[in-house]
Amino acid sequence: MKENRLIETFIDLVEISSPSGCERGVADYIKDALGTVCKKIVEDTAGEKLGGNAGNVTVFIEGSENSLEPLIFCAHMDCVVPCENVVPVKDGDIIKSNGDTILGADDKAGIAMLIETARVIKEDSIKTPDIYYLFTISEEVGLHGAKNMNLDNVPKGYAFVLDGESTVGTITVASPNSEKFRIRVKGKAAHAGIEPERGVNAIQIASKAIAKLPMGRIDKQTSINIGKIHGGHARNVVPDNVVVEGEIRSFSKKKLDSLLEKIESIFSEEAEIGLGLFSLKHESEFTGFQLSDSDDVVKIALEGARRKDIKTKTIKSGGGSDANVFNEKGISAVVLAIGFENAHTKSEQINITNLKMGVDFIMGIIEASGCAD
Ligand SMILES: [Zn+2]
Repeated sequence: MKENRLIETFIDLVEISSPSGCERGVADYIKDALGTVCKKIVEDTAGEKLGGNAGNVTVFIEGSENSLEPLIFCAHMDCVVPCENVVPVKDGDIIKSNGDTILGADDKAGIAMLIETARVIKEDSIKTPDIYYLFTISEEVGLHGAKNMNLDNVPKGYAFVLDGESTVGTITVASPNSEKFRIRVKGKAAHAGIEPERGVNAIQIASKAIAKLPMGRIDKQTSINIGKIHGGHARNVVPDNVVVEGEIRSFSKKKLDSLLEKIESIFSEEAEIGLGLFSLKHESEFTGFQLSDSDDVVKIALEGARRKDIKTKTIKSGGGSDANVFNEKGISAVVLAIGFENAHTKSEQINITNLKMGVDFIMGIIEASGCAD
Protein backbone atom coordinates (compact mmCIF):
# COMPACT_ATOMS: atom_id res chain seq x y z
CA MET A 1 0.00 0.00 0.00
CA LYS A 2 1.24 3.47 -0.80
CA GLU A 3 0.09 5.72 2.00
CA ASN A 4 0.53 9.01 0.20
CA ARG A 5 -1.29 7.75 -2.87
CA LEU A 6 -4.18 6.54 -0.70
CA ILE A 7 -4.47 9.92 1.03
CA GLU A 8 -4.23 11.73 -2.30
CA THR A 9 -7.04 9.60 -3.76
CA PHE A 10 -9.18 10.28 -0.73
CA ILE A 11 -8.57 14.04 -0.90
CA ASP A 12 -9.30 14.04 -4.66
CA LEU A 13 -12.60 12.26 -4.04
CA VAL A 14 -13.86 14.51 -1.25
CA GLU A 15 -13.09 17.53 -3.41
CA ILE A 16 -15.55 16.27 -6.03
CA SER A 17 -19.10 17.41 -5.28
CA SER A 18 -21.50 14.48 -5.29
CA PRO A 19 -24.87 15.02 -3.65
CA SER A 20 -27.33 12.21 -4.37
CA GLY A 21 -28.25 12.20 -8.05
CA CYS A 22 -25.09 14.10 -9.03
CA GLU A 23 -22.42 11.39 -8.81
CA ARG A 24 -21.01 11.97 -12.33
CA GLY A 25 -17.69 13.37 -11.15
CA VAL A 26 -17.04 10.49 -8.77
CA ALA A 27 -18.09 7.87 -11.34
CA ASP A 28 -15.68 9.37 -13.89
CA TYR A 29 -12.88 9.57 -11.32
CA ILE A 30 -13.29 5.86 -10.52
CA LYS A 31 -13.28 4.93 -14.21
CA ASP A 32 -10.18 6.98 -14.72
CA ALA A 33 -8.37 5.57 -11.72
CA LEU A 34 -9.25 1.93 -12.36
CA GLY A 35 -9.50 1.88 -16.17
CA THR A 36 -5.99 0.54 -16.65
CA VAL A 37 -5.97 -1.59 -13.52
CA CYS A 38 -9.14 -3.65 -13.97
CA LYS A 39 -10.52 -5.97 -16.57
CA LYS A 40 -13.89 -4.35 -17.07
CA ILE A 41 -15.86 -1.32 -15.86
CA VAL A 42 -19.57 -0.96 -16.58
CA GLU A 43 -21.96 1.82 -15.69
CA ASP A 44 -25.65 0.89 -15.60
CA THR A 45 -28.70 2.98 -16.48
CA ALA A 46 -30.12 3.31 -12.96
CA GLY A 47 -29.20 7.00 -12.98
CA GLU A 48 -31.46 7.70 -15.97
CA LYS A 49 -34.31 5.94 -14.25
CA LEU A 50 -33.76 7.91 -11.04
CA GLY A 51 -33.23 11.26 -12.75
CA GLY A 52 -29.56 11.48 -11.80
CA ASN A 53 -26.47 12.20 -13.89
CA ALA A 54 -24.61 8.91 -13.30
CA GLY A 55 -25.38 5.22 -12.94
CA ASN A 56 -24.05 2.54 -10.62
CA VAL A 57 -20.51 1.56 -11.58
CA THR A 58 -19.40 -2.09 -11.49
CA VAL A 59 -15.68 -2.85 -11.66
CA PHE A 60 -14.50 -6.38 -12.41
CA ILE A 61 -11.07 -7.53 -11.26
CA GLU A 62 -10.40 -10.90 -12.81
CA GLY A 63 -8.90 -13.33 -10.33
CA SER A 64 -6.65 -16.33 -10.68
CA GLU A 65 -8.27 -18.42 -7.94
CA ASN A 66 -11.29 -19.64 -9.85
CA SER A 67 -12.29 -22.32 -7.37
CA LEU A 68 -13.14 -19.65 -4.80
CA GLU A 69 -16.41 -17.75 -4.53
CA PRO A 70 -16.17 -14.21 -5.90
CA LEU A 71 -15.81 -11.34 -3.46
CA ILE A 72 -17.93 -8.24 -3.79
CA PHE A 73 -17.00 -4.90 -2.24
CA CYS A 74 -19.38 -1.96 -2.26
CA ALA A 75 -19.24 1.75 -1.49
CA HIS A 76 -21.69 4.50 -2.39
CA MET A 77 -20.69 7.52 -4.45
CA ASP A 78 -23.20 10.08 -3.13
CA CYS A 79 -22.98 12.20 0.01
CA VAL A 80 -25.48 14.02 2.18
CA VAL A 81 -25.56 17.81 1.86
CA PRO A 82 -23.84 20.18 2.43
CA CYS A 83 -21.18 18.42 0.38
CA GLU A 84 -20.29 20.89 -2.35
CA ASN A 85 -16.92 22.62 -2.54
CA VAL A 86 -15.50 20.59 0.33
CA VAL A 87 -12.16 21.94 1.55
CA PRO A 88 -10.39 19.07 3.30
CA VAL A 89 -8.04 19.99 6.13
CA LYS A 90 -5.25 17.69 7.30
CA ASP A 91 -4.55 18.05 10.98
CA GLY A 92 -1.94 15.51 12.07
CA ASP A 93 -3.50 12.08 11.66
CA ILE A 94 -6.97 13.55 11.14
CA ILE A 95 -8.64 14.69 7.93
CA LYS A 96 -11.71 16.90 8.37
CA SER A 97 -13.55 19.62 6.45
CA ASN A 98 -12.99 23.34 7.04
CA GLY A 99 -16.30 23.36 8.95
CA ASP A 100 -18.50 24.74 6.15
CA THR A 101 -19.48 21.34 4.77
CA ILE A 102 -19.44 17.68 5.64
CA LEU A 103 -16.21 15.87 4.74
CA GLY A 104 -17.67 13.02 2.70
CA ALA A 105 -15.53 10.25 4.22
CA ASP A 106 -18.95 8.57 4.25
CA ASP A 107 -18.45 6.99 1.83
CA LYS A 108 -15.44 8.25 -0.11
CA ALA A 109 -13.08 6.63 2.37
CA GLY A 110 -14.52 3.32 1.17
CA ILE A 111 -14.00 4.27 -2.48
CA ALA A 112 -10.40 5.39 -1.82
CA MET A 113 -9.65 2.13 0.02
CA LEU A 114 -10.99 0.08 -2.88
CA ILE A 115 -9.04 2.03 -5.50
CA GLU A 116 -5.82 1.60 -3.49
CA THR A 117 -6.52 -2.12 -3.02
CA ALA A 118 -7.00 -2.65 -6.78
CA ARG A 119 -3.72 -0.88 -7.48
CA VAL A 120 -1.87 -3.00 -4.92
CA ILE A 121 -3.36 -6.22 -6.34
CA LYS A 122 -2.13 -5.26 -9.80
CA GLU A 123 1.31 -3.97 -8.77
CA ASP A 124 2.11 -6.91 -6.50
CA SER A 125 0.41 -9.52 -8.74
CA ILE A 126 -1.59 -10.76 -5.78
CA LYS A 127 -3.59 -13.92 -6.30
CA THR A 128 -7.29 -13.33 -5.73
CA PRO A 129 -10.65 -14.82 -6.52
CA ASP A 130 -12.77 -12.82 -8.97
CA ILE A 131 -13.53 -9.48 -7.34
CA TYR A 132 -16.38 -7.11 -8.09
CA TYR A 133 -16.56 -3.54 -6.89
CA LEU A 134 -20.04 -2.04 -6.83
CA PHE A 135 -20.12 1.74 -6.57
CA THR A 136 -23.70 2.82 -6.01
CA ILE A 137 -25.62 6.05 -6.52
CA SER A 138 -28.30 7.64 -4.33
CA GLU A 139 -27.67 5.52 -1.26
CA GLU A 140 -28.24 8.36 1.17
CA VAL A 141 -31.76 9.07 -0.05
CA GLY A 142 -33.15 5.53 0.26
CA LEU A 143 -30.66 2.99 -1.15
CA HIS A 144 -32.10 3.73 -4.59
CA GLY A 145 -28.96 2.89 -6.56
CA ALA A 146 -28.63 -0.58 -5.06
CA LYS A 147 -32.37 -1.18 -5.34
CA ASN A 148 -32.25 -0.35 -9.05
CA MET A 149 -28.99 -2.11 -9.79
CA ASN A 150 -28.91 -4.81 -12.38
CA LEU A 151 -27.05 -7.64 -10.65
CA ASP A 152 -27.43 -10.15 -13.50
CA ASN A 153 -23.74 -9.98 -14.30
CA VAL A 154 -22.60 -10.12 -10.69
CA PRO A 155 -22.37 -13.68 -9.38
CA LYS A 156 -23.62 -14.50 -5.94
CA GLY A 157 -20.48 -14.16 -3.86
CA TYR A 158 -19.73 -12.70 -0.47
CA ALA A 159 -20.33 -8.99 -0.18
CA PHE A 160 -18.69 -6.42 2.06
CA VAL A 161 -20.26 -3.00 2.17
CA LEU A 162 -17.67 -0.41 3.23
CA ASP A 163 -20.01 2.05 4.84
CA GLY A 164 -19.96 1.78 8.64
CA GLU A 165 -19.18 4.45 11.18
CA SER A 166 -16.71 3.51 13.95
CA THR A 167 -13.25 1.96 13.94
CA VAL A 168 -12.14 -0.47 11.25
CA GLY A 169 -12.84 -3.98 12.55
CA THR A 170 -16.45 -3.30 13.52
CA ILE A 171 -18.67 -5.56 11.44
CA THR A 172 -22.42 -5.08 11.19
CA VAL A 173 -24.07 -8.49 10.87
CA ALA A 174 -27.71 -7.54 11.38
CA SER A 175 -30.03 -4.73 10.44
CA PRO A 176 -33.80 -4.36 10.93
CA ASN A 177 -36.69 -4.24 8.50
CA SER A 178 -37.90 -0.70 8.02
CA GLU A 179 -41.37 0.35 6.93
CA LYS A 180 -42.36 3.96 6.37
CA PHE A 181 -45.96 5.08 6.64
CA ARG A 182 -48.01 8.15 5.82
CA ILE A 183 -51.40 8.78 7.37
CA ARG A 184 -53.79 11.38 6.09
CA VAL A 185 -56.61 12.48 8.43
CA LYS A 186 -59.49 14.29 6.82
CA GLY A 187 -61.81 16.55 8.77
CA LYS A 188 -64.08 19.35 7.70
CA ALA A 189 -63.14 23.01 7.38
CA ALA A 190 -65.26 25.71 9.01
CA HIS A 191 -64.79 29.20 10.43
CA ALA A 192 -63.32 28.65 13.87
CA GLY A 193 -65.18 31.56 15.50
CA ILE A 194 -68.46 31.83 13.62
CA GLU A 195 -69.47 28.20 13.11
CA PRO A 196 -66.98 25.80 14.72
CA GLU A 197 -69.85 23.30 15.21
CA ARG A 198 -69.80 22.63 11.48
CA GLY A 199 -66.14 21.71 11.44
CA VAL A 200 -64.31 18.45 12.08
CA ASN A 201 -60.87 19.11 13.51
CA ALA A 202 -58.37 16.82 11.77
CA ILE A 203 -55.50 18.00 14.01
CA GLN A 204 -57.39 16.91 17.11
CA ILE A 205 -58.20 13.49 15.66
CA ALA A 206 -54.56 12.95 14.65
CA SER A 207 -53.31 14.18 18.04
CA LYS A 208 -55.55 11.84 20.00
CA ALA A 209 -54.47 8.91 17.85
CA ILE A 210 -50.75 9.78 18.11
CA ALA A 211 -51.07 10.10 21.90
CA LYS A 212 -52.28 6.51 22.03
CA LEU A 213 -49.47 5.10 19.87
CA PRO A 214 -46.52 3.28 21.36
CA MET A 215 -43.46 5.44 20.60
CA GLY A 216 -39.67 5.17 20.61
CA ARG A 217 -38.00 1.90 21.51
CA ILE A 218 -40.71 -0.70 21.91
CA ASP A 219 -38.43 -3.63 22.73
CA LYS A 220 -34.93 -4.88 21.85
CA GLN A 221 -36.02 -5.60 18.31
CA THR A 222 -38.39 -2.79 17.52
CA SER A 223 -38.69 0.98 17.38
CA ILE A 224 -41.34 3.36 16.11
CA ASN A 225 -41.25 7.05 15.32
CA ILE A 226 -43.59 9.77 14.16
CA GLY A 227 -41.14 12.12 12.51
CA LYS A 228 -43.23 14.67 10.69
CA ILE A 229 -46.69 16.17 10.91
CA HIS A 230 -48.19 18.92 8.85
CA GLY A 231 -51.66 20.23 8.20
CA GLY A 232 -54.16 22.98 8.78
CA HIS A 233 -54.50 26.25 6.89
CA ALA A 234 -54.91 29.12 9.31
CA ARG A 235 -55.35 29.90 12.99
CA ASN A 236 -59.02 30.72 12.56
CA VAL A 237 -60.02 27.76 10.38
CA VAL A 238 -60.98 24.34 11.71
CA PRO A 239 -58.35 22.17 10.02
CA ASP A 240 -59.66 19.64 7.52
CA ASN A 241 -56.41 17.96 6.62
CA VAL A 242 -53.39 16.55 8.50
CA VAL A 243 -50.59 14.33 7.23
CA VAL A 244 -48.57 12.28 9.70
CA GLU A 245 -45.37 10.55 8.62
CA GLY A 246 -43.46 7.92 10.52
CA GLU A 247 -41.61 4.65 10.43
CA ILE A 248 -41.37 1.33 12.20
CA ARG A 249 -38.14 -0.66 12.40
CA SER A 250 -37.97 -4.20 13.68
CA PHE A 251 -35.77 -7.25 13.35
CA SER A 252 -39.05 -9.19 13.44
CA LYS A 253 -41.27 -8.75 10.41
CA LYS A 254 -44.15 -10.16 12.45
CA LYS A 255 -43.80 -7.45 15.11
CA LEU A 256 -43.54 -4.80 12.44
CA ASP A 257 -46.74 -5.98 10.78
CA SER A 258 -48.64 -6.17 14.03
CA LEU A 259 -47.57 -2.62 14.97
CA LEU A 260 -48.74 -1.40 11.61
CA GLU A 261 -52.13 -3.00 12.27
CA LYS A 262 -52.23 -1.39 15.70
CA ILE A 263 -51.54 2.07 14.21
CA GLU A 264 -54.28 1.53 11.68
CA SER A 265 -56.82 0.47 14.30
CA ILE A 266 -56.02 3.40 16.64
CA PHE A 267 -56.43 5.94 13.81
CA SER A 268 -59.57 4.21 12.65
CA GLU A 269 -61.06 4.39 16.13
CA GLU A 270 -60.21 8.06 16.65
CA ALA A 271 -61.41 9.02 13.17
CA GLU A 272 -64.71 7.35 13.90
CA ILE A 273 -65.12 9.06 17.28
CA GLY A 274 -64.17 12.44 15.80
CA LEU A 275 -66.37 12.02 12.70
CA GLY A 276 -63.41 12.27 10.35
CA LEU A 277 -61.79 9.99 7.81
CA PHE A 278 -58.30 8.63 7.49
CA SER A 279 -56.13 6.71 5.06
CA LEU A 280 -52.81 4.94 5.65
CA LYS A 281 -50.14 4.18 3.07
CA HIS A 282 -47.03 2.22 3.89
CA GLU A 283 -43.98 1.05 2.00
CA SER A 284 -40.88 -0.95 2.80
CA GLU A 285 -37.77 1.21 3.13
CA PHE A 286 -35.52 -1.82 3.38
CA THR A 287 -35.62 -5.47 4.37
CA GLY A 288 -33.69 -6.60 7.41
CA PHE A 289 -31.01 -9.26 7.67
CA GLN A 290 -29.48 -11.24 10.49
CA LEU A 291 -26.24 -13.14 10.08
CA SER A 292 -24.06 -14.85 12.67
CA ASP A 293 -20.46 -15.97 13.13
CA SER A 294 -21.33 -19.25 11.40
CA ASP A 295 -22.25 -17.53 8.14
CA ASP A 296 -19.45 -17.70 5.59
CA VAL A 297 -19.39 -13.98 4.86
CA VAL A 298 -18.90 -13.24 8.57
CA LYS A 299 -16.30 -15.99 8.91
CA ILE A 300 -14.29 -14.50 6.05
CA ALA A 301 -14.46 -11.01 7.56
CA LEU A 302 -13.35 -12.25 11.00
CA GLU A 303 -10.53 -14.33 9.56
CA GLY A 304 -9.44 -11.45 7.32
CA ALA A 305 -9.17 -9.17 10.34
CA ARG A 306 -7.31 -11.82 12.36
CA ARG A 307 -4.70 -12.15 9.62
CA LYS A 308 -4.01 -8.42 9.78
CA ASP A 309 -4.17 -8.15 13.59
CA ILE A 310 -7.27 -5.99 13.44
CA LYS A 311 -9.48 -6.17 16.52
CA THR A 312 -13.03 -7.12 15.60
CA LYS A 313 -16.46 -6.55 17.03
CA THR A 314 -19.69 -7.78 15.45
CA ILE A 315 -22.72 -5.57 16.02
CA LYS A 316 -26.40 -5.22 15.16
CA SER A 317 -27.27 -1.90 13.60
CA GLY A 318 -30.53 0.02 13.77
CA GLY A 319 -29.83 1.56 10.39
CA GLY A 320 -30.01 0.41 6.79
CA SER A 321 -27.41 0.33 4.03
CA ASP A 322 -26.82 -1.21 0.61
CA ALA A 323 -26.14 -4.46 2.51
CA ASN A 324 -29.88 -4.73 3.22
CA VAL A 325 -30.59 -4.65 -0.50
CA PHE A 326 -27.90 -7.21 -1.37
CA ASN A 327 -29.07 -9.62 1.31
CA GLU A 328 -32.62 -9.25 0.03
CA LYS A 329 -31.37 -10.01 -3.49
CA GLY A 330 -29.68 -13.18 -2.27
CA ILE A 331 -26.09 -11.95 -1.86
CA SER A 332 -24.78 -12.41 1.69
CA ALA A 333 -23.51 -9.03 2.80
CA VAL A 334 -22.10 -7.44 5.94
CA VAL A 335 -21.20 -3.83 6.60
CA LEU A 336 -17.62 -2.98 7.49
CA ALA A 337 -16.84 0.11 9.52
CA ILE A 338 -14.29 2.27 7.74
CA GLY A 339 -13.36 4.70 10.48
CA PHE A 340 -15.30 7.88 9.75
CA GLU A 341 -16.76 9.75 12.71
CA ASN A 342 -19.63 12.27 13.09
CA ALA A 343 -21.00 11.34 9.66
CA HIS A 344 -23.66 13.62 8.15
CA THR A 345 -22.38 16.62 10.13
CA LYS A 346 -19.92 19.40 9.45
CA SER A 347 -17.60 17.90 12.05
CA GLU A 348 -17.25 14.64 10.13
CA GLN A 349 -13.67 13.35 10.18
CA ILE A 350 -11.51 10.31 9.63
CA ASN A 351 -8.03 9.45 10.79
CA ILE A 352 -5.37 8.25 8.41
CA THR A 353 -4.67 5.21 10.60
CA ASN A 354 -8.19 3.98 9.87
CA LEU A 355 -7.88 4.78 6.18
CA LYS A 356 -4.79 2.54 5.97
CA MET A 357 -6.29 -0.10 8.23
CA GLY A 358 -9.29 -0.29 5.89
CA VAL A 359 -7.03 -1.27 2.98
CA ASP A 360 -5.29 -3.82 5.22
CA PHE A 361 -8.64 -5.28 6.21
CA ILE A 362 -9.74 -5.63 2.58
CA MET A 363 -6.43 -7.33 1.76
CA GLY A 364 -6.99 -9.63 4.75
CA ILE A 365 -10.46 -10.53 3.50
CA ILE A 366 -9.03 -11.35 0.07
CA GLU A 367 -6.39 -13.57 1.69
CA ALA A 368 -9.02 -15.23 3.87
CA SER A 369 -11.50 -15.81 1.06
CA GLY A 370 -10.71 -19.50 0.99
CA CYS A 371 -11.43 -20.03 4.67
CA ALA A 372 -15.16 -20.56 4.21
CA ASP A 373 -14.72 -23.63 2.00
ZN1 LIG B 1 -22.80 5.94 3.94
